[in-house]
Amino acid sequence: MDDLKYGTRDKRGNWTPNKPAGTAPLFVFPPQPLALLKWLPSYFLPYNALFFLSALAWWAWVIPSVEVMQTLAWGWVLWLFAVNAVAVFLWYSAFELHLYIRRAQGNRFKYNGKFPADTPSDVFWFKSQNLDNFLRGFLSGVPIWTGLQVLVLWCYANGIGNWVTFADHPVWLVFLCLIVPVIHEFHFYCIHRLIHVPILYKWVHSVHHNSINPSPWSSLSMHPVEHLAYFSTILYHLILPSNPLIALYQLHYAGFGAVPGHVGFDKVELTEDTGIDSHAFIHYLHHKYFEVNYGDGLIPIDKWTGTFHDGTKEADERMKERYRQKKERLNARKTTPAE
Ligand SMILES: [Zn+2]
Ligand SMILES: [Zn+2]
Repeated sequence: MDDLKYGTRDKRGNWTPNKPAGTAPLFVFPPQPLALLKWLPSYFLPYNALFFLSALAWWAWVIPSVEVMQTLAWGWVLWLFAVNAVAVFLWYSAFELHLYIRRAQGNRFKYNGKFPADTPSDVFWFKSQNLDNFLRGFLSGVPIWTGLQVLVLWCYANGIGNWVTFADHPVWLVFLCLIVPVIHEFHFYCIHRLIHVPILYKWVHSVHHNSINPSPWSSLSMHPVEHLAYFSTILYHLILPSNPLIALYQLHYAGFGAVPGHVGFDKVELTEDTGIDSHAFIHYLHHKYFEVNYGDGLIPIDKWTGTFHDGTKEADERMKERYRQKKERLNARKTTPAE
């Protein structure tokens, strides 16, 4: 595909889409029913549908029987860990292999002109972003993901929580399925905003931000505290009337869904003239500029709070003005004499 039909490339090789990043037509006033209808297919396809199907597959073929899960035992816990690890490896590697190892589409649609493997850096373990990100994902990401999965399934098996069936509450559960990404967005925004508080940023979130030029393995490259906060989105299903299948979907949405946002390319090409939109631009800008786009644009909280960046020069100016005002406030505080 000719990416210059869709965007521009600067002297450094960084590609920017012509179309500014937008937020979903949800939670807007007045409502925009036509825009909503046009947007709906992209809400379901391909990722949300895929993660729902993967949860269904886990429920059918991976999750042990209720009797087994009533008792915590290494057998089924390690089984779940192994399946999660293999699935993460295959799903993440598919993007990594195609786009970053084989570099099958070169740097077409790539926001940052450089590939992380070409720029070793001291901030990473073994100076390698790939190795560092990969190890963090498997050493703490998948274990914490599995730990929370086991906790919720054990609660379900022991009748702890507000579990309901599709036969008894079909309307509510279908609605809950539909809003799984919205719950994720709300949770992600809240914890993400929190870990940008300077002390938590330094201690916890800076690990994730080491990857200024994110690639697939950056998705789960986090401090264990962030992994815990990130995956605890499944715990909403212990409070809300829910079903374990939807709880699994929520977890898959967080675990597998992190990849598209960190893929580093605006489109993944399928053929000469078709490609899948990654919707990664909003979060790419967060990795680039740090204090913009705390959310992913499903709920426009960043727009409401003035931290939204759509990739345009005007948004750049607004961001710089915000940083300048912040600096001024900090300087004023520093120069105020102690009473
Ligand atoms: Zn990120
Ligand atoms: Zn951040």
